Amino acid sequence: MAEADQTIDGNLLAAKSLAHFGVEHMFGVVGIPVTSFANRAVSLGIRFIAFHNEQSAGYAASAFGYLTHRPGVLLTVSGPGCVHGLAGLSNAMINSWPMVLISGSCDQNDVGRGDFQELDQIEAVKPFSKFSIKAKRVSEIPNAVAQVLHWSASGRPGGCYLDLPSDLLHQTVTIAEAEKLLSAAETFFINATPETHVSGVEKTVSLLRNAKRPLIVFGKGAAYARAENELKKLVESTGIPFLPTPMGKGLISDTHELAATAARSLAIGKCDVAFVIGARLNWLLHFGEPPKWSKDVVFILVDISEEEIELRKKSVNVGAGLAGDAKCVLESVNKAIKDEPFCLGKSHPWVEELKKKVKDNVVRLEAQLARDVVPFNFYTPLRIIRDAILAVGSPAPVVVSEGANTMDVGRAVLVQTEPRTRLDAGTWGTMGVGLGYCIAAAVASPERLVVAVEGDSGFGFSAMEVETLVRYQLSVVVIVFNNGGVYGGDRRSPEEIDGPHKHDPAPTSFVPGAAYHTLIEAFGGKGYLVGTPEELKSALSESFSARKPAVINVIIDPYAGSESGRLQHKN
Ligand code: ADP
Repeated sequence: MAEADQTIDGNLLAAKSLAHFGVEHMFGVVGIPVTSFANRAVSLGIRFIAFHNEQSAGYAASAFGYLTHRPGVLLTVSGPGCVHGLAGLSNAMINSWPMVLISGSCDQNDVGRGDFQELDQIEAVKPFSKFSIKAKRVSEIPNAVAQVLHWSASGRPGGCYLDLPSDLLHQTVTIAEAEKLLSAAETFFINATPETHVSGVEKTVSLLRNAKRPLIVFGKGAAYARAENELKKLVESTGIPFLPTPMGKGLISDTHELAATAARSLAIGKCDVAFVIGARLNWLLHFGEPPKWSKDVVFILVDISEEEIELRKKSVNVGAGLAGDAKCVLESVNKAIKDEPFCLGKSHPWVEELKKKVKDNVVRLEAQLARDVVPFNFYTPLRIIRDAILAVGSPAPVVVSEGANTMDVGRAVLVQTEPRTRLDAGTWGTMGVGLGYCIAAAVASPERLVVAVEGDSGFGFSAMEVETLVRYQLSVVVIVFNNGGVYGGDRRSPEEIDGPHKHDPAPTSFVPGAAYHTLIEAFGGKGYLVGTPEELKSALSESFSARKPAVINVIIDPYAGSESGRLQHKN
């Protein structure tokens, strides 16, 4: 038989479609009906990172999309596998990251009869995806793959879903037919190219030029757009101070002289024009409203999503809204500024005021950090970790951060010098993302060390994935801040401890002194238990140089942090 007349099944066609449209990595958990699909993908050169739990794999796929600017792909089994995968899909949606969830589903002939792991998955993913599609015949697979990959990355990035029923994975097409289907799907698969025409540039430049206290704010949308060079040019040509959001940190180094991070309250409280690039005016930026912001502040908003800009116009004064890719928009803004340059200069009163505040706050923080407090508070170990990370140099490690106090204090203490080197709980404040994000970062950037700094609660969500770290020998060091539970264990007042279950552990507490470091040792990784500065320094030095999977269990005083970290008023 001629090769073109030979047949391939849906599993191979799905794998070929992914490879054809440039997918090089997949995260997931295999089982009925997708195991053969995963194996076929691997045989075609796609790296499959196999997890223990789809939730973690989904978080990995979402962060992978952000870090690589290409859709992260998660593969799950039907029913419960798909449901577990919703965690990652929703996380991608809420953070505006490109991701595709592909789930096997039950045989189409058995729908409605209680088939194995049956679920109407198209209905289930609806609230968590921007586009979903079910391939109903094997011949529809290439086009469906092209569509989900395209839609996840086009416009505002987000999560898309592809449903592959099990019967279709066993249907066949000839190789000749498969080739035809793949090239036909190409016509649909348009690369998400950012538009070049941007309106509102002149208004933007005029607002910035006439502002008395301008501020540039940027977030993970600007990071996703790879706008770092344009941002730096903007800041340095205009002399305007800048404030990154937590994941915007590093687009311009935290150590830059115009960084206003250490004077955040003053910067947002007093600026009269805020140029906000790839960051939503949501809870993280206090909705752009008083009392944190001045009531007279004028916003200039850059966002890939026109709807986002329109939404904010309802509650804040938007002087200019520039819908488009942050990198392209800033190129146009920089060009317009170059034609008629202006610069605040070092002695501008606003720049001086901010610099003074930054200096005062840094001196205060450094004084707090300088003390070696044992048993550890949050500051002492974070200082030691900060210094160890900075000592690594370039390429800078990717820092993954989650937890209440660990993340809040860590955000102020840990320093980001390079773009996209901070991943944290993000827009949703999602806890449990840590291990998935570590794996995504290590796979996306094998040249970088990955350092997770997380609370024991955050770690516990997906601690079994330390086995995944060891299995793939990823260059990840997980530092667990162990204070015996959520916020630090049992913090109830005597009147809160009553009722028939008063002898149960508090809802916030875990086993005190848990030996988290031994988890990784069970799989052949390296574990460290530390409680003093010397022990921590030695563990960091050894594990950072080894570049092998390790867990450092840092014992923290359970009374050191505050309940709910920085968000006490919300609990
Ligand atoms: P942060 O958490 O850093 O404040 P957000 O997730 O709130 O950031 O906001 C990021 C914004 O960036 C989203 O509104 C998203 O639509 C937008 N965005 C995503 N990609 C781009 C891009 N390429 N250019 C400009 N904006 C983008």
